Amino acid sequence: MAEKTLFEKIVAREIPADIVYQDDLVTAFRDINPQAPTHVLIVTNEPIPTAADVEPQHEPALGRLFTVARKVAEQEGLENGYRLIVNCKDDAHQEVYHLHVHLLGGRPLGPLLAR
Ligand code: 5GP
Repeated sequence: MAEKTLFEKIVAREIPADIVYQDDLVTAFRDINPQAPTHVLIVTNEPIPTAADVEPQHEPALGRLFTVARKVAEQEGLENGYRLIVNCKDDAHQEVYHLHVHLLGGRPLGPLLAR
C-alpha cells in the first residue's frame, strides 16, 4: 500500500491540525504557515495527487470542496471576499501532492500573481 500523504494523516487525525470542518468527502483545516488572517486548506479525504489527476468519479468530492469553501468563508466572516487557489505540480509550486484548495481572506489580497 502506498504511504499516506501528510494530508491523509491529518484527515485520519494521526497528526494534529486545527480542523475547522470535516464530513464524509472533505476536511478543512488551518494552514500551518498562514499567508492571510484566514488561510484554510480544504482537502479531499481520499487522496487525489493533483488537479491533473481528476477523473469523473471525483466530481462529488470536488463539488464538495466548493460548498465547504463557502461554508468556511461564512464561518470566518469573509463578507468582503476571499481567494480560492489550487496549485498543480511544479510550476505552480505545489508542495503537498494531495489535492487541496487554499481559502485565503481577511485582508485585501492584491493581484493574483507577483509580477
Ligand atoms: P501547496 O504548495 O501544496 O499548494 O500547499 C501546501 C500547504 O500546506 C502550504 O501552504 C503549507 O504551509 C501547508 N502545510 C504543509 N505542511 C503542513 C502541516 O503539517 N500542517 C498544516 N496544517 N499545513 C501544512
